[in-house]
Amino acid sequence: MNWLTNFVRPKIQALVSSQKDVPENLWVKCPECEGMLFHRDLDDNEKVCYHCNFHLAMPVLERFKNLFDDGKFKRVAVPKVNHDPLKFKDQKRYAERLKASQAKTKEEDAIIVASGQIGGCETVIAAFNFAFMGGSMGMAVGEGVVTAAKEAVKRKAALIVIPSSGGARMQEGALSLMQMPRTIIAVEKVKEQGLPYIVLLANPTTGGVSASFAMVGDIHIAEPKAMIGFAGKRVIEETIREKLPEGFQTAEYLLDHGMVDMVLARQKHNEVIGSMLAILMGKPSPAEKGKKKKNSGTETDAIANKDVAASKVAGYTASAVKKASDVNVSTPANTAELKALKKVATK
Ligand SMILES: [Zn+2]
Repeated sequence: MNWLTNFVRPKIQALVSSQKDVPENLWVKCPECEGMLFHRDLDDNEKVCYHCNFHLAMPVLERFKNLFDDGKFKRVAVPKVNHDPLKFKDQKRYAERLKASQAKTKEEDAIIVASGQIGGCETVIAAFNFAFMGGSMGMAVGEGVVTAAKEAVKRKAALIVIPSSGGARMQEGALSLMQMPRTIIAVEKVKEQGLPYIVLLANPTTGGVSASFAMVGDIHIAEPKAMIGFAGKRVIEETIREKLPEGFQTAEYLLDHGMVDMVLARQKHNEVIGSMLAILMGKPSPAEKGKKKKNSGTETDAIANKDVAASKVAGYTASAVKKASDVNVSTPANTAELKALKKVATK
């Protein structure tokens, strides 16, 4: 017995505990190509797969650091809502699910709002946190979009929403569906003020989110290979009893079919969105700032920029704005700016 307790048991315990000490997430499997990714390399590459360029989910605060100028931003508080008014329960109580997600993500709900500058332009961003119950949209998320829109109007800032969501949160029933018209009205208020509203579609954007505020942006940008659609591919195939084309509901497919204006790699978000905002808000872009001071063309540039912004508000897509620059609506400086933007985007 002594031999068992004094020798065998400690050996077994040592074996088990040493296995526990090995971190579980040193390697991450790419959901697209199934390639193994070392976590540190993945972090250095903005959470983009270095085998196939798939854009993996990015924690919201890291995304903000990547998007805002110099990684500087301030969080905007989202008012608390009455969670779980229906006292919903499936296999588990909804209240318990909420608590578990709050403990896991250290966030109140699936949306985070922050303000700062992009390309020197005041910007408010509302970003979905997919790690929190699949980024599903309930009352708290609706409140987040409304708060971001109000903040944008107050600050005369641009509004960017970054959806990454499985759709409406079924545990809140009709109350979650009510967030669809609610968020639409919120972003309309931003547009009424002539402020840009940009949607940056991240993987995946589906269900009630894609059927509301996510499809009414002035400009739609998507991350490469992001899945964007309403119902899933299999559900549609079963309903219409037809095979759907290859690449259906991907960002690239939607770009080819005119549903999104640009597919943009994560590494270029700050640069390209910054230039876009500068054009739309009639400010010299960071790249042009130095050059413009030399001549006195700033005023004409501002007017030309306003023309482009006006055409944008009238419903042109980003590509139409590019075409407008070819037809020479703008001054030479502005044309160069647009060309540079186009070049960066198509790289
Ligand atoms: Zn991959």
